[in-house]
Amino acid sequence: MSLLDQRCLNHALREAAVECPSCKRFFCRECSTEHQGRMICVGCVAALARSENKTARTKTVRWSAAALGGILLAWLVFYYLGLTLARIPSEFHGVVE
Ligand SMILES: [Zn+2]
Ligand SMILES: [Zn+2]
Repeated sequence: MSLLDQRCLNHALREAAVECPSCKRFFCRECSTEHQGRMICVGCVAALARSENKTARTKTVRWSAAALGGILLAWLVFYYLGLTLARIPSEFHGVVE
C-alpha cells in the first residue's frame, strides 16, 4: 500500500507524510517530528522521551550505588589497614620477647 493512499491518524482529511517506524501508523507532517534522524509520530516521541528519562534516572541510581560501593570498599580497606597497623607493634613486641 502506498503512503499516498494513507491518511493521517489524527487528521482524516490529510494525506499521510510519514509512516511511524515505531507504531507503524500513518501521520501528516504536523503530527510527526524528527527524532534521531528519522521521522516518528509525536506520540511515540513523547513515549521515547519518557523511556529515555527513565534510562537516565536508572543510570544515575546505578552511579550512586557504584559510588556508595566504592566508598564502602575504601572504608573497609582503611579499616583493615588500620587493624593490621594496630596489630604490627604487638607482633614486633612478641618477637622481641
Ligand atoms: Zn508512532
Ligand atoms: Zn495529522
